[in-house]
Amino acid sequence: MKTVNTISELRAARAELPEPVGIVPTMGFLHEGHLSLARRARHECASVVATIFVNPTQFAPEEDLDAYPRDLDRDLALLEGAGVDLVWTPTPDVMYPPNFQTWVIVEDLTRVLEGASRPTHFRGVATVVAMLFNGVQPQRAYFGQKDAQQAVVVQRMVQDLNYPIEVVVCPIVREADGLAMSSRNTYLNPDQRQAATVLSRSLKAAKLAFHAGERDADALRAIVAEVVASEPLAQLEYISCAHPETLQELDGSIENGLLSMAVRVGRTRLIDNLVITGDSGTRNVKT
Ligand code: AMP
Repeated sequence: MKTVNTISELRAARAELPEPVGIVPTMGFLHEGHLSLARRARHECASVVATIFVNPTQFAPEEDLDAYPRDLDRDLALLEGAGVDLVWTPTPDVMYPPNFQTWVIVEDLTRVLEGASRPTHFRGVATVVAMLFNGVQPQRAYFGQKDAQQAVVVQRMVQDLNYPIEVVVCPIVREADGLAMSSRNTYLNPDQRQAATVLSRSLKAAKLAFHAGERDADALRAIVAEVVASEPLAQLEYISCAHPETLQELDGSIENGLLSMAVRVGRTRLIDNLVITGDSGTRNVKT
C-alpha cells in the first residue's frame, strides 16, 4: 500500500493503478463503518484508493475541527488490512492553497436537515468531494448511508456535473447495541455512550409502528420524538420523515420515507437514519 500527500504524487501513483478504480473518502479515525466501504470497494474494483482528510471547510467555526480525533498510523494499518492500494492524505494547504475561492454548491438538497443546522457544511463537503474525484479520477465512489443526506447530495453533484462515476451507498454499520458507528462516538463518556442508544432505539420504534400499520408521517416523527424525550441525557435537534431523494418533508400517509435525526448527548452531536418502505420493510438507498 502506497501513501501520498501532494497532487503530483497522487497523479503519478494513480496512473499506475489498474481500472476500475474505487475511491473511499474518509476523515480518518477509522472504524468498521469505514472499513465496510473499503472492503466493498476491494470486492468490486481492480484498485482501491482511500483518502484521509479532516476537511476544515465542512466544519463551522464553533464546531469540533480541532478536537476531531486523529490516528494516522492506526488508520494506515487498518486500510492496509482491508486491501487498499493507495492512500491519499492531503494536508489543508494542498487542498486549500492561498487565494482558494472556488466552491461547489448543491442548492435545495442542502437547505434542509443537516444543512438547516449546518449552513456551510455541504458547501465544504461537495467542494472537497469534487477535488477528491478530480484528483483520483475513480470509476466508483463509496459512501455510507450513515450520512444519508451527504450521499444524496453527492449523487446530485455527480449527475449535475457529469462525473463519470458510479456512487455506491453502503449500509450503516452499528455497534452491538444499535449505536451507529461514528468517529465522534469517542467523545462520549460511559453514561452518554449508554444514552446514545436512544437514536437507534427511537428509529426502531418508528419502524415497528410502521410495520404495525402506522403510515402517518407526523405520527412516525412523534414516536421518535417521544422515545428521545424519555432519555434525560439526550436533546433532540431535529427529527425528519422525508422523501428519500428530494429530502422534502412528507405529510399524511406515506409508503416510503427517510427517517433521520440529529440528537445532542452532552456536547456531542450524533446523527442516525432509517429508510422505511412499504414493500420490504427497510432498504438501503442505492444507485
Ligand atoms: P467520515 O470519516 O465520517 O467522513 O466518513 C467517511 C465515510 O464513511 C462516509 O461516506 C460515511 O457515510 C461513512 N461512514 C461513517 N460511519 C459509517 C457507518 N457507521 N456505517 C457505514 N458507513 C459509515
